[in-house]
Amino acid sequence: MLNLVLFGAPGSGKGTQSAKLIDEYGLYHISTGEVLRDHISRGTELGKIADSYISKGNLIPDALMIQILDEVLDKEASDKKGVVFDGFPRTIPQAEALKELLRKRNTDLHAVIGLEVPEDELMERMIRRGQETGRADDNPETIKSRLNVYHNQTLPLKEYYTNEGKYLPINGLGVVDDIFNDIAAGLEKATGAKRREH
Ligand code: AMP
Repeated sequence: MLNLVLFGAPGSGKGTQSAKLIDEYGLYHISTGEVLRDHISRGTELGKIADSYISKGNLIPDALMIQILDEVLDKEASDKKGVVFDGFPRTIPQAEALKELLRKRNTDLHAVIGLEVPEDELMERMIRRGQETGRADDNPETIKSRLNVYHNQTLPLKEYYTNEGKYLPINGLGVVDDIFNDIAAGLEKATGAKRREH
């Protein structure tokens, strides 16, 4: 199996690069943000709880998020070649939980791809995405709190995974395909994984 975390601030291109990763490596994509937005649009109980956090730009509590991920892994990812985790983990306790969730399934996390993008560019990208897609939390006020949450709660994971020797820094500025080529080259070096032949 090849299990990857796509790490980066909101607006850093995680969703875009995930789509390419699943295509080129045959992996299953789990975006915790998408899982939550799906619940919100279906009006489930979980969706109502999630919306009360997401609309303020706050994180869903760790215990709930970890339980949701555990269920998605059982339901969707058990027979796949590996998983791209997009938007998870976002806190140190979530990273510890991910280790345990994978260990319990006799597998491991192989690399953390860190998309690094300057703050002013992040802001611009999210404002544009909000205008183009109508995504509710892409408004200036919520974006500010999401970036604060990222700095305070999520960025410490960069050091956490660097210490584990798993962090692969990638310049997330520029053309989508060039960024993906950097990711593929880094992954091959770090894990030996090869993208599919064209
Ligand atoms: P995303 O689509 O990854 O930008 O996530 C959108 C929102 O969903 C975030 O701002 C959080 O409110 C919530 N969310 C997504 N993933 C997580 C997570 N791993 N832990 C807590 N909250 C999350």
